[in-house]
Amino acid sequence: MGTTIVGARVFDGERSIGPATVVLSDAGTIDAVEPGEREPVEGEVDARGRTLLPGLIDAHVHLRGAGNLGQDLRHGVTTVLDMFSAPPQFTAMLRRRAYSRDDEADLRSSGLMAGAVDGWPAVMLPPDPTGWRMPGLAGPDDAERFVADREREGSDYLKVFVENAADVTRPTLSPETVAAVCGAARRRRLLTVAHAPTRWAFATARAAGVDVLTHLPLDGTAEVAADLTVVPTMTMMAALTSQDSVRALLDDPRLTARLSSEVVAGLEAGDRGGLPTSSAVGASYAHAEDNLARLLEAGATVVAGTDANDVPGRPAAVLHGTSMHLELELLVRAGMSPADALAAATSRAADVFALADRGRIAPGRRADLLLVDGDPLSDVTATRDLRTVWRRGVEHDLSSPVHAPGRDVVGPPRRR
Ligand SMILES: [Zn+2]
Repeated sequence: MGTTIVGARVFDGERSIGPATVVLSDAGTIDAVEPGEREPVEGEVDARGRTLLPGLIDAHVHLRGAGNLGQDLRHGVTTVLDMFSAPPQFTAMLRRRAYSRDDEADLRSSGLMAGAVDGWPAVMLPPDPTGWRMPGLAGPDDAERFVADREREGSDYLKVFVENAADVTRPTLSPETVAAVCGAARRRRLLTVAHAPTRWAFATARAAGVDVLTHLPLDGTAEVAADLTVVPTMTMMAALTSQDSVRALLDDPRLTARLSSEVVAGLEAGDRGGLPTSSAVGASYAHAEDNLARLLEAGATVVAGTDANDVPGRPAAVLHGTSMHLELELLVRAGMSPADALAAATSRAADVFALADRGRIAPGRRADLLLVDGDPLSDVTATRDLRTVWRRGVEHDLSSPVHAPGRDVVGPPRRR
């Protein structure tokens, strides 16, 4: 018999619809949403006084192992959108795993990112034991083939690394090559997502016809418009420019409770991992926050994503799962209402990335849900008071042992 959740205030992905009964089917979808209050009967979940939300979607992560996906789900993040992982067999293995089991977050992935030969992001990869090397683009003529190969590998969208050659220490794609990649992706109906953390990158990606910009210029005021779609990754913008977000994380026991002791110890030791950092002058979080406020003012589409990652053996400053709750707080601090920030992490992420089966509490949608204490529509940090997480209708045991993330936790998939 499916689960019946009674009496929670329901945020349906766009707005609060007040107390309701939500009925889940055996098939892992939502059968019915019945507004109104009633007494729960035996066998039903008494959720009165709590809030039920669609499972969170983190629209910018990087995966180093299946342990990341377990950590995501434990924090109510039921779907992650990987924005570059390698090699392709590793990404394919994670996809199969996410499909076959319900104790880890579901996954979509760009697979390999478009970058220059011997440039970012190829240089951040450790040497591959099989001798595999990440393909790079030497110029616009390589775009068609690069995109065709990613399509064949099953990429759900295409990620492009956009940085000014003057701001990075490695070769980078020319604006012409970025435009050629966008053209090739559009012909194959693949969405393009650009890494764009500077004014130059933001403007270049936009001019090249990129569909989604991720990060925000840290080096000054960006040109904004209503037709832009942005995944700001405020958590990463904060982590790149100061230690405050790490301190904020360590100071909130609700954020560290479901992390492994190794990860927390690494954070306390000040380990920030190793990520490509644009060296553009004048980088500051205040610029990112100001740019987000201006995008909101202009009516741009903003989707929540964290840039969660972890370098093997070293926890970085942006952690899987827990960072999504920091991201929501940072979005609200930059001017979004809690309802708007929660929509950015649910229905809007689903709309932008064409995940039509999830992101909303409505009949027929996947039963990816989280139940929290309190009301995140008045205080968005209430999402940290997690009570229950369901993925495809299966309740996740929040008290299950916490393993350190990494490639070594990859095991055979378990059947439901
Ligand atoms: Zn990233």
